[in-house]
Amino acid sequence: MAEDDVRLPRAFVERAAELDDRDPLRAFRAEFVLPEGVLAYLDGNSLGRPLVVTRDRLARFVDGEWGERLIRAWDETWLARPTAVGDLIGRAVLGAAPGQTVVADSTTVLLYKLVRAAVDARPGRGEIIADTENFPTDRYVLTAVAAETGRTVRWIEPDPATGVRPAEVEALLSDRTALVVLSHVAYKSAYIADLPGITAAAHRAGALVLWDLCHSAGVVEVGLDAADVDLAVGCSYKFLNGGPGAPAWAYVAQRLQDRLVQPIAGWMGHAEPFAMGPEYRPAPGIRRFLSGTPPVLAMIPLEDMLTLIERAGLPAIRAKSVSLTEYAVAVADEVLAPLGVVVASPRDPDHRAGHVLLEHDAMATVVEELWRRGVIPDFRRPRGLRIGLSPLSTSFAELATALGHVRQLLATRGG
Ligand SMILES: *Cc1c(COP(=O)(O)O)cnc(C)c1O
Repeated sequence: MAEDDVRLPRAFVERAAELDDRDPLRAFRAEFVLPEGVLAYLDGNSLGRPLVVTRDRLARFVDGEWGERLIRAWDETWLARPTAVGDLIGRAVLGAAPGQTVVADSTTVLLYKLVRAAVDARPGRGEIIADTENFPTDRYVLTAVAAETGRTVRWIEPDPATGVRPAEVEALLSDRTALVVLSHVAYKSAYIADLPGITAAAHRAGALVLWDLCHSAGVVEVGLDAADVDLAVGCSYKFLNGGPGAPAWAYVAQRLQDRLVQPIAGWMGHAEPFAMGPEYRPAPGIRRFLSGTPPVLAMIPLEDMLTLIERAGLPAIRAKSVSLTEYAVAVADEVLAPLGVVVASPRDPDHRAGHVLLEHDAMATVVEELWRRGVIPDFRRPRGLRIGLSPLSTSFAELATALGHVRQLLATRGG
């Protein structure tokens, strides 16, 4: 296969070079681990790349904090890590004042804990509003909590190419609604839901709202305090580059903290963990949402990425994200659409987050071959090529390279 075959038309290659030249964030890419065998990485929204600095910080942690400080480090710094890193997440990516975000568990477990706490705080209200396009774990947890607490899930069936609209939520809201649970950004289409509008509508009905921010955190601006959000959860291995199995985080608005009781009563969420007392007494504030020993080691890469995000600033990150997805959509329209590709993400950048879904019946085999070539996007059944564009680690040239391979594979299919 000739080099030219896998290149996009010259105008797009030049445009990518120009966009890279003008990119105020271009220097950040060199801070990531960039092995030569990876021609293009477009799955930073499933597992972000590691940072070079993390290598040293992990080594120093083993020798110093862990190797030398040993058990003393719990008192010195580790016990405070879940709320210290939580505050950093709140400040860098959530628009949340300190004392409302905590790092723990996985998204699934935190979701369960908060959903359970929220419905228990709305006794007499038997319904939870959710949507059928949400990530599987969210749907499973909600179905399980509904069964466990004798409630009903009222399912919205949104247009998969877009996402849940405020009117669809309002149609189901009533004095029977205990809780509304939605993803801010749809994991397939990248549709950005109207977080302030839906939150306000839920509050008018007396319900609580929980936002899943897995595909928003680190790439789309969210003002949780400003929108008066009640609860939120998110994972930290996607655009927050925390690494495989990095712990999740939960946001609980200050005004609710002491009124909510989460169901996994563990010693780390106790008011006095080391009193080892006979009964569970939840800690005041956000710490009550902890259950067991915090994953200290796994917070190191996350903290490194949060520091980088703060340096770059979320508005600049969002601006580059929009321009990356605009470029991908333009190539899809001009180069890939003639080969049968359909853009399955919103065209309005105000409603599109950090990834783009491109559909074609051959995508399953195309993605298999792309991975063999070191071009790594994601595949979403049944026919979606999902291009995740992590703004700090992705260049326009890298995106152009990947789309050139996609074009070549679709053009020579069966040949
Ligand atoms: C990735 C993702 C999750 C992941 O849950 P884990 O418990 O971390 O595996 C949950 N919800 C959404 C919307 C996601 O995109």
